[in-house]
Amino acid sequence: MSALADLQAKYADINALHNAAAIMEWDQQVLMPHGGAPARAAHVGSLTRMAHEGMTSDAMAAAIAALEGSASSDVESATARVMRRHYDQSTKIPAKLVEEKSRLSSEAHETWVEARKENDFSKFARVLNRMVEICREEADALGYEESPYDALVDQYEEGATAADCKALFDQIQPGLSELVAQIGEKPETDDSILTGEWNDADQKQFTEMLVKAIGFDMERGRQDTAPHPFCTNFSIGDVRLTTRFLKEVDSAIFGSLHEAGHGMYEQGSPMEWDRTPLAGGVSLGVHESQSRLWENIVGRSRAFWTRFYPDFQRQFPTFANVSLDDFHRAVNKVKPSLIRVEADEVTYCLHIIIRFELEKAMIEGDLKTADVPEAWNAKYEQYLGVRPESDANGCLQDVHWSAGLHGYFPTYAIGSVLSFQIWETLKADLGDVDAQMESGDFSKILGWLQEKIYSKGQMLTPKELVRSVTGEDLKPEPFLNGLRAKYGELYSL
Ligand code: ZN
Repeated sequence: MSALADLQAKYADINALHNAAAIMEWDQQVLMPHGGAPARAAHVGSLTRMAHEGMTSDAMAAAIAALEGSASSDVESATARVMRRHYDQSTKIPAKLVEEKSRLSSEAHETWVEARKENDFSKFARVLNRMVEICREEADALGYEESPYDALVDQYEEGATAADCKALFDQIQPGLSELVAQIGEKPETDDSILTGEWNDADQKQFTEMLVKAIGFDMERGRQDTAPHPFCTNFSIGDVRLTTRFLKEVDSAIFGSLHEAGHGMYEQGSPMEWDRTPLAGGVSLGVHESQSRLWENIVGRSRAFWTRFYPDFQRQFPTFANVSLDDFHRAVNKVKPSLIRVEADEVTYCLHIIIRFELEKAMIEGDLKTADVPEAWNAKYEQYLGVRPESDANGCLQDVHWSAGLHGYFPTYAIGSVLSFQIWETLKADLGDVDAQMESGDFSKILGWLQEKIYSKGQMLTPKELVRSVTGEDLKPEPFLNGLRAKYGELYSL
């Protein structure tokens, strides 16, 4: 057996265990009765442990080294690179530290829920402090050159560093804050038409029609409902989307388009890579660039709704007398708020930048956890012009820090910024994309993304991929210019 075939066979077993756990987790969100929770946690725990044992075994180490020593093709080199990264991430952090983090995460989660309910950050500060120490120990184990934060962000975005993120965010923050302030001087958009009593069946039918229309393959996927929308997959041929039906009719629509963006990226890997290390999206940031491209750049465009608004009005007759312009303005309303998950396209990255700056400062020892609330509130006031009246609506709103996911937040903003850079290149190649969207033809757009990004799987690193697609490194201009153009028109700035 070749070194590649041997490593692929070993990986296939681990992949099966991970996917068995993933199906259980999907089921837990979508179908499982409440009573199944304790056993399910144990089942997933066992499968995850078995996968970890396989990944860190001597046999796996030998198989990776053998492929590194013999790789001559692109597929062999890329497989060796991806597996070395998995192996390092699974072995460099001592088992004792992994265990302690897992224990502390459970405790921190409960403490966080309580602290948020009682609006008392001081309750959470002690466990957060310990979590920051653990993240620092993790960073030491993983290794870094300049900042311990580098090691943490690299876990989610290969090759990204604290300095990269800071440079990018320092460039976009002033422009975003200025745009938000300009919009704030204009009359507030009335989006009350979006809220009502909508039929679940109508929302299901309409969102399924939309995700199929943009190119999500229902022969190799499906859409269900879950309390929090997500996308998961068990193979290239089985990709699951979830959405949710709320009183705000736009929630399901844009949630579905967002998850379908993730889903089409996963469906787009070459079938011969199924169950191999090269299948699937390359990083969280690149993944998020695709969900946001389909949700925001395509899904919230005038051209998109020129095609679909008549269908929407038929499905939801309340909108019979609402003009396309008013609907389009409503789904693109910009208003600074305190809550990240409810933020619009313009303010969203400011929420992320605040979190990045605070968690970087905590990890680098420049911010004491006790001082987080004041620093948080000051930054909200400075960047967004709003100040939280409580920690529950401020620094206690996100689950991430209780789980020790420091370094995760930047990937959301990297994805938003990258989506515009990719779109700019796509438009230069494809010409009048608005006309294509107005006619409901997404085949050229999807085909371009498929060829340039989805079909590459994990062959290239995220940075190599960005360069190969756009000819340049990640840069802020397309994002800032794109938002200024769109919202300049919407708000007559
Ligand atoms: Zn996403």
